[in-house]
Amino acid sequence: MFCHNAVALSHFYAENTVKKGGVCIDATAGNGNDTAFLARLVGEEGMVYAFDVQQAAIDATRARLEEQDLLGRVRLILDSHANAAAYIEGPVDLMMFNLGRLPGSDHAVYTEAQSTIAAIEVGLTLLRPGGLICLSAYWGDPVCLAEYRAVAAYIAAIPPRRAEALFHEFVNEPNCPPAFFALCRAEG
Ligand code: SAH
Repeated sequence: MFCHNAVALSHFYAENTVKKGGVCIDATAGNGNDTAFLARLVGEEGMVYAFDVQQAAIDATRARLEEQDLLGRVRLILDSHANAAAYIEGPVDLMMFNLGRLPGSDHAVYTEAQSTIAAIEVGLTLLRPGGLICLSAYWGDPVCLAEYRAVAAYIAAIPPRRAEALFHEFVNEPNCPPAFFALCRAEG
């Protein structure tokens, strides 16, 4: 088994964590690829909460889900992932972030360190013990790099009694491919 990029890694971890009937959060719906992937994983009995601050992303995600007959198990939320606790009680099996900006969009709406870190904090309170946060982080341009550094420093400082933190980097690939973080909420 080899996962060739950060998104593939996050799917690999999700497949090993989420069962039918599970509950997931897609913190950055974007164009809906991960939302659809998670919706298939949780099955008909499960639930996915998908956040995005851009109406265009919510619309694109809705269209993708409708196309694949998955909309019934997804709640689309036009709000910041930092406010996830206002919509979800938990326990949650997995929360997925794909940071950066929506590919192909006109407006440069990037994820930002402050709200990303706030959302990870919320995620850690919503996760079940053993539940995961998967995060793909870009660092190839100055905006993304600032967020990446802040998020990496924040994650490295999380006490292991709260969560185990893991980091993968594709060290011999060109063009700054995204790096991957996983946080596993501690048992008990
Ligand atoms: N870079 C990725 C896609 C990232 S999409 C790729 O190449 O595939 C990131 C999404 O996060 C965008 O659609 C953006 O609108 C959304 N976003 C930005 N800030 C957010 C926030 N605070 N809460 C929820 N979504 C946010």
